[in-house]
Amino acid sequence: MAAPMRLRVLLFDVAVLLCFSANGSAGPLPLVINTWPFTNATLKAWSEIQTGSYLDALVAGCSECESQQCDGTVGYGGSPDEIGETTLDAMIMDGETHDVGSVGDLRRVKNAIGVARAVMDYTQHTLLVGESAKDFAVEMGFKEESLTTNRSAEIHSSWLQNKCQPNYRQNVSPDPTKSCGPYKPSSKLFTHRDFVKPIHRWNHDTIGMVVVDKDGKTGSGTSTNGLSHKVPGRVGDSPIVGAGSYASGGVGGAAATGDGDIMMRFLPSFNAVMMMANGDTPQKAAEKSIMPIIKAYPKFVGAVIAANTKGTYGAACHGLGSPFKFSVRSPDTPTVTVIEQPCI
Ligand code: ASP
Repeated sequence: MAAPMRLRVLLFDVAVLLCFSANGSAGPLPLVINTWPFTNATLKAWSEIQTGSYLDALVAGCSECESQQCDGTVGYGGSPDEIGETTLDAMIMDGETHDVGSVGDLRRVKNAIGVARAVMDYTQHTLLVGESAKDFAVEMGFKEESLTTNRSAEIHSSWLQNKCQPNYRQNVSPDPTKSCGPYKPSSKLFTHRDFVKPIHRWNHDTIGMVVVDKDGKTGSGTSTNGLSHKVPGRVGDSPIVGAGSYASGGVGGAAATGDGDIMMRFLPSFNAVMMMANGDTPQKAAEKSIMPIIKAYPKFVGAVIAANTKGTYGAACHGLGSPFKFSVRSPDTPTVTVIEQPCI
């Protein structure tokens, strides 16, 4: 099958150009697909799916990114908030049962996707947050430890020295574009829809992963440390069902990365899966899922990956300033393949 002209394929460890199954042609299973060139995570999930379940593969893949601190934007030691603390968001969804476990604003526990899995396995809840999520994690045997590193402390102190720029405050005084807090509400409210969030590759990212096993069973997961300099307590889209990721048996899964404060208002992962259920290819579904976001927020920055249970996959992005890279491994690829998807 021919690769679409607008996609460029980067291959690691092999010298041949591959055909792959983006944009509509079915490929064999199992399939692992994840956001960004986080190829070690892809390989870990791929290795796990050979003998384990799709859920085990999701946890193995996302955990790998957490321990390797992918781009500094997943796991400990990255994206310190306004008070210098790294906090984590993660989720896992079983598409076959619609069971979900997720954690938001998780503190002092490194393996956020592991804790999300524990929420799914050992409670009847869906989402635990903050200090209480940490208490739950410790109860379940996870280690409590600081997530601060020299690097995250340095990011935080440079930010303080730079008058707390950039930050995510608005309609407060003193002027948040010029000084640090503490802030008080200001009397006038302005619309900030056209503002460009100060986000770029190195201060935000999420591993979002979809796994389809050899029998077509599917699940999805995410893990991130959110946005640098976020307001303490901020939870992004990554642990929100249908926003960060979504999976549905017999259909497929999707996952998102980018400006989570905006994306969680549109549930792009849910939308992408619903569009695949209605017959769209993953590529078309991913594109359609971000169109309403772009319409409402023309400067939106983000991307969605989607895969169906036949092993077909695709992605769409907007506002990244360069093509969006995502990683794929299936029997069609001799090793992990990084695909560049130009943005809409
Ligand atoms: N979506 C993540 C968040 O807003 C960050 C990212 O993926 O870029 O927390």
